[in-house]
Amino acid sequence: SPRLQHKVAIVTGSSSGLGRAIAVRYAKEGAKVVCADLTPTARSEEEADITTHELILRNGGSAIFVPTDVGNATQVENLVTVAVQAYGRLDILVNNAGISIEARAPAVLHLTDESTWDTTMRVNVKSVFLGCKYALAQMLAQEPHSSGDRGWIINISSIMGMIGASYCASKGAVSQLTRQMALDYAPHKIHSNAICPGYTQTAIFKETTSYCTPWDDLNRRHPLKGPGFPDDIAKMAVVLASDDASWVTGVCLPVDGGYTA
Ligand code: NAD
Repeated sequence: SPRLQHKVAIVTGSSSGLGRAIAVRYAKEGAKVVCADLTPTARSEEEADITTHELILRNGGSAIFVPTDVGNATQVENLVTVAVQAYGRLDILVNNAGISIEARAPAVLHLTDESTWDTTMRVNVKSVFLGCKYALAQMLAQEPHSSGDRGWIINISSIMGMIGASYCASKGAVSQLTRQMALDYAPHKIHSNAICPGYTQTAIFKETTSYCTPWDDLNRRHPLKGPGFPDDIAKMAVVLASDDASWVTGVCLPVDGGYTA
């Protein structure tokens, strides 16, 4: 039976890559999905034929799109409000939206622009703070799910093997926030976990690897099957939002084909 039935999920960065794969999988597992991104259009040509929420609707699932800049408090508050207006509650928040703008240039710390640092922290870290702030308030206020749990937060962090000073620092912050929220909200039966993907084949991947990483090297670093695909991450995101993870919280789980083994 579907593993996310009767659950309402917000997925940020839903138009492309990992977010798109997670949103589609969640809908297949019976969740009602609130897709949030700057625009509904995907960043990569391969995904541009149909938007994520239209794809879900075409497959018989339930989804809406809410235009959202995840670094803007008013827009993130609005996202949670619209989700609850549409579906009556909020069970799952996937903080997936993120950027790796340093991928396009050598980004050791002394060559990192202040604007690159500020933008990366805004989109990768402040976004998690804002999303959790408004989602947790809703989760605490509503009736628990039938399992007794009140909510599931899933942050997309990173194995941090990607290029750049500000990117690494931003994902370190996301992992640490994940663990602290697990402690703070465990008494309220809210799970907080992160997935740390290895190199996964999305628009970010293309920008990063075209800059410096040869395929031989990528295959060696991910001994199980080489660089991953968005669905490899989405499958684990289903587990962490389901009752299969009933006693799992505070985990930053590498999903990386053995990169960190
Ligand atoms: P992607 O570029 O394909 O998708 C990212 C999505 O986030 C895009 O649709 C983009 O429009 C959206 N986004 C960007 N800024 C936003 C903002 N301010 N507000 C709302 N949405 C915004 O990249 P992806 O590879 O799918 O990345 C998803 C997440 O996975 C990111 O957090 C990334 O850091 C992380 N990650 C990716 C890899 C990888 O190899 N692809 C590895 C580790 C971690």
